[in-house]
Amino acid sequence: MQRPVARTLAVLAVSAAVVSVGAAAPPPAAGRGAEKEPVAVGHGGAVSSVDADASAVGIEVLRKGGNAVDAAVATAAALGVTEPYSAGIGGGGYFVHYDAKSRTVRTIDGRETAPRTADENLFTEDGKAIPFAEAVSSGLSVGTPGTPATWQAALDRWGSRSLGTLLKPAERLARDGFTVDETFRSQTASNEARFRYFPDTAELFLPGGELPVVGSTFKNPDLARTYAELARKGVGTLYRGGLAEDIVDTVNKPPVDPDSGYEARPGDLSAKDLATYRVEHQAPTKTSYRGLDVYSMAPSSSGGTTVGQALNMLERTDLSKASEAQYLHRFIEASRIAFADRGRWVGDPAFEDVPTKELLSQRYADARECLIKDDAVLTSPVAPGDPRHPGRCSTGGTPAPTTYEGDSTTHLTVADKWGNVVSYTLTIEQTGGSGITVPGRGFLLNNELTDFSFTPANPAVHDPNLPGPGKRPRSSMSPTIVLDKHDRPVVALGSPGGATIITTVLQTLTGFLDRGLPLVDAIAAPRASQRNAATTELEPGLWNSPLKGELEAVGHVFKENPEIGATVGVQRLPNGKWLAAAETVRRGGGSAMVVRPER
Ligand code: GLU
Repeated sequence: MQRPVARTLAVLAVSAAVVSVGAAAPPPAAGRGAEKEPVAVGHGGAVSSVDADASAVGIEVLRKGGNAVDAAVATAAALGVTEPYSAGIGGGGYFVHYDAKSRTVRTIDGRETAPRTADENLFTEDGKAIPFAEAVSSGLSVGTPGTPATWQAALDRWGSRSLGTLLKPAERLARDGFTVDETFRSQTASNEARFRYFPDTAELFLPGGELPVVGSTFKNPDLARTYAELARKGVGTLYRGGLAEDIVDTVNKPPVDPDSGYEARPGDLSAKDLATYRVEHQAPTKTSYRGLDVYSMAPSSSGGTTVGQALNMLERTDLSKASEAQYLHRFIEASRIAFADRGRWVGDPAFEDVPTKELLSQRYADARECLIKDDAVLTSPVAPGDPRHPGRCSTGGTPAPTTYEGDSTTHLTVADKWGNVVSYTLTIEQTGGSGITVPGRGFLLNNELTDFSFTPANPAVHDPNLPGPGKRPRSSMSPTIVLDKHDRPVVALGSPGGATIITTVLQTLTGFLDRGLPLVDAIAAPRASQRNAATTELEPGLWNSPLKGELEAVGHVFKENPEIGATVGVQRLPNGKWLAAAETVRRGGGSAMVVRPER
């Protein structure tokens, strides 16, 4: 069993105390129940993910001379085994890469796409939005998976090993099994009812008709065979071969248990949708922040523009000198405003005229930042501004609420001995995706298309996130890499959590860069999330702290959220050393590893 590592943390103390970094033992081979540690320091490269078996797979690739991209693909494939409800070949994601030789950052947009037949009424019936839960567990919500194409594209561009080689450890892990932990069991439990609608899903994830037992070994021989097939035939089989046919059949006729009484709506994904799927090689977003450059994902994700815009607003305050309450106040208000703009302006740029550059301009941030008051709170929903015509303290658009996005997903970060870095977030959307397993193939299909607005968020204004043919739903994923003025990596990180990804990445970055927290403490710090709503969500660590009262006195309204996000990251240290960091407690703790741990 993988145990959470309990750690106490003086979160509110703004000290730059050096975190104690117990030397991690060399990781055991994949599938043997590697131990979880939230921090590791050493040489030869680093891997940080939510799962110890997956991190160990990445470390093994690095140890054998693979680079960061090779290790990232192998780690992601392993996460498809051990985190099957968060990520896998039935989903999509965003891959951000730093190339040490050219000192440049490039990205791959491997987001799922809607079928060619989709239009803005994909999720309506008789002019009304269909119930969200029914859309989730249906063929309608399944987009063409982008993850296998992302892996191949990343390897083609920057990798040094074949996909076949890199899938081997994950194939073994699927065949030999991994040890069921508390998180896996509870994620299964929260999906149990709908998993039972789909016999193939129930057979796989409810072995013997029961929830998997903590400490038992969970095997997925179907997925092992699927990985072996991908290794043999290449990812083309998932887009144009036998696997593509199986996906199309499953989406268009979801294999439901007729006795369950559940009617899963069919999708309309065609062989042509899969055959014509392409990843996008997008330029990253770039935000200058206190002498550093913050790189992240451009639209179709709203991650890069929203984190970047908020950072630009926060840059006008010296957060290192602010009190904890002032810091949180600024962070909450900047998030609120950035989300107002995100909702109005960000969608798939192949379909929408997205003002990416203008959203990230300091001029626009200045125009919006001046709305923030020290002694009062803005009323949400805040109206968007117009990034193309920023006026002083500009607002003026029609406000729209932020729509719901899921809360599953996973992030991994890798650095190699040459200094290359990967920050990669991948997902099948909700925990458990659509709930539909491709029969005999061992993986769940995504429900990413529910990230579209079902109906316009505000009927009076254009919503850039309505469904369309081949369109990518707007994401919040924010895989981030920060470079210094010499274009050398400082830190790379990311998180799951639907729209809270943006606030989590923003809070972790400012905690680390401005508040002097060691990376692991910036990750562990209790989180707040404001997304242009009347209430701001607080994790228990803040909910139960005197800071809550201080902020309420200014006008903040809070509701409790037991857990927000699950961040992992790596930090470059001098002399080729890396620090990997992960969660101490959330989701049972994450797994940070380096190739040669420091004694
Ligand atoms: N589907 C969400 C997005 O793309 C991510 C879901 C999650 O993090 O759980 O933003």
